[in-house]
Amino acid sequence: MQLDTQNPFVQTATGNRIAQLAEIYRAIEQEQRAFIESSLACGKPLRCPAHCSSCCHGFMPDVLPVEADAIAWFLLTQAEPLIERFHSFSGGTAGRGPSPCPFHDPNRPGANCLIYPVRPLVCRLFGFAAVLDKEGNPSFSLCRHMPIPSGLHQRYFTSDAIERTFGALPPVMSKMAMAVLALDPHHSGHRSSLSEALPGALTRVGMALRFSLSPDEPRAA
Ligand code: SF4
Repeated sequence: MQLDTQNPFVQTATGNRIAQLAEIYRAIEQEQRAFIESSLACGKPLRCPAHCSSCCHGFMPDVLPVEADAIAWFLLTQAEPLIERFHSFSGGTAGRGPSPCPFHDPNRPGANCLIYPVRPLVCRLFGFAAVLDKEGNPSFSLCRHMPIPSGLHQRYFTSDAIERTFGALPPVMSKMAMAVLALDPHHSGHRSSLSEALPGALTRVGMALRFSLSPDEPRAA
């Protein structure tokens, strides 16, 4: 996910927030890459099973308005046919059946997420993030679908064990969530499902895109 800082859309409030969100997403990707590479270097490689996508089955992500805006921007500027797919999507069934997420395509093994570059925080962090324990120290659990690296016998790792075993820490979920909340504190309580949030975001971002293309229009969207 990349926004050209010279693009007039980034001068709008909406566009600017999306550009800042892209920076947070980039930081997460860097930390996750370093964690995964370090696990490999330590001989304890962490990886999802090939073509798994279990985390999308029966799952509808919750998003903040800024995350919905980023997805709307991606759809409006790079993936317009997916807007039609979203409006005609009737939802899947819960459990192991089709995902209720409108952007999960089970027919594309290994590339099931149709909005992968702008997938929301919860999808991005799943499987490769630490949570804080009662003492405020990071802890890490392997996803139940992830194979336990050879030589290990547990799925849960305390802060010391993470660094000792994998040589690095993954991004901390609450820290990244706070960074995203701080982008738009007035709407920090407005978390809703992706399906509920997206129609408003498409309208909001569509207006901001139009304003940014028209110098006579105000750029406060
Ligand atoms: S947004 Fe992408 S990663 Fe998240 S549930 Fe939907 S298909 Fe899966």
